[in-house]
Amino acid sequence: MEMSKVLQDQVAIITGSTSGMGEAIARRFAKEGASVVINGTNEERGKKIQDEIVNDGGQAAFYKADVSSAPEVEAMVDFAVEQFSKVTILVPNAGILGNGLATEISLETWDKTIGVNLNGVFYLCRYGLPKLIEAGGGTVVINASIASFKSFPQHPAYCASKGALIPFMKNIAQDYAGHKIRANALCPGPVDTPLIWDSVKAFPNADSIIDETIGMTCVGRLGTPEDVAEAALFFASDKSSFITGASLTIDGGIMC
Ligand code: NAD
Repeated sequence: MEMSKVLQDQVAIITGSTSGMGEAIARRFAKEGASVVINGTNEERGKKIQDEIVNDGGQAAFYKADVSSAPEVEAMVDFAVEQFSKVTILVPNAGILGNGLATEISLETWDKTIGVNLNGVFYLCRYGLPKLIEAGGGTVVINASIASFKSFPQHPAYCASKGALIPFMKNIAQDYAGHKIRANALCPGPVDTPLIWDSVKAFPNADSIIDETIGMTCVGRLGTPEDVAEAALFFASDKSSFITGASLTIDGGIMC
C-alpha cells in the first residue's frame, strides 16, 4: 500500500526555481505530491526541470516571469490556477545579490535588488494570498537569509531587502491566520548554489573565502539546496501546523 504523500493535493508556486534552492524545493514538493509552478528567467532550464518532474510522475508547469514585475507575478498566479485549479503554497524564493558599497552601489542595482528580493515577495503574496483564502487556507514559506539578521560586507541592498522580509512575514502570519494561512521564513547560511559563488566575488580574498566560511560553521561544510528543501517541506506541510511567524536558520551553526 502506498503511503499518503505529505503534500498530496497541494499546489505550490516556487519563484526562482530554475536553479539552486528553488529547484530543490520544487523537486522535493513534487515528490511529495504537490503540483508545482516552476518560475525563473531561464526558460530552457525551467522547461527542462518541468519535463524531468513530469517524466518522474509528478505535476509541474514552468512559467517565465520577472518577480520584480507586479503584472507578471499576477499573471503567474492566474496561470497556476488555470493549470492546477487552485493555489495553496507560496514560496517566494527568487533572489539576487546586488553587490556594492553603500556609497558606490548604483541606484539601478539598489532598485533592482529591492525589486526582486523584497517587492517580488510582496507581489507573490499580494496576488497569491487571495487564492489561498479561496482554497480554504495554505502556507507561505519565504526564503530570506541569515543576512536578515547580520551584515555581509558590500551587500547593503541584499541585507536591507532580506532584513525587511522577517517583519513582513510576521505581518502575513498575523493578518491571515484567520484564513488558516501560516507564514514562516527560511534563513539559510552558506549554501552551495551559483549565487554563493557570485557573492564571493565582492571580497578581496575570493579564492579563500569559501573555505573560511566553511570554517565558521559548526558542521564544517556548505549547506546543500536539499538541506533547505527539507526545511521548506516542513514549513509547507501540516507537520508544522502550530508554527507560524517563525524564522529558521539553516546555516550549519554559523550564527552560533
Ligand atoms: P540561485 O542563483 O541558484 O537561484 C536564484 C533563482 O532566482 C534562479 O532560478 C533565478 O532564475 C531566479 N531569479 C533571479 N532573478 C529573478 C527574477 N527577477 N524573477 C524571477 N526569478 C529570478 O540562488 P540560490 O542560492 O538558490 O538563491 C535562492 C534564494 O536563497 C535567494 O533568495 C537567495 O537570496 C537566498 N539565499 C541564498 C544563500 C546561498 O548561500 N546560496 C544564502 C541565504 C539565502
